[in-house]
Amino acid sequence: MRILKGDMVVVRTGDERAKAPRRVLRIVEGGARLVVEGVNRVYRHVKKGHPKSPQGGRLSVELPIDASNVQVYCPKCDRGVRLASKVNADGSKYRGCRKCGAALVAGGS
Ligand SMILES: [Zn+2]
Repeated sequence: MRILKGDMVVVRTGDERAKAPRRVLRIVEGGARLVVEGVNRVYRHVKKGHPKSPQGGRLSVELPIDASNVQVYCPKCDRGVRLASKVNADGSKYRGCRKCGAALVAGGS
């Protein structure tokens, strides 16, 4: 099961380990890498006239991290979990927590 844009995830490795769940901002390289809010943030120094910073100066940007380093956050388990494909009584599918079965909807709840 893929992590989707808007998911709340926890980062398993590096400096961001054990921090609070964060939101996935962007999926890149077909899901192999993703951009997580506030994770792997760097400052780019830009000149005047940059579209995002007309005055120039420092611009904070998040770099993509490897998707294998994050897990979807389950509010019920209060930890990062693996996703499982679950089926509703009416046959429709949803993404659920592999541990407790709670539905994990992209965009958080
Ligand atoms: Zn769970």
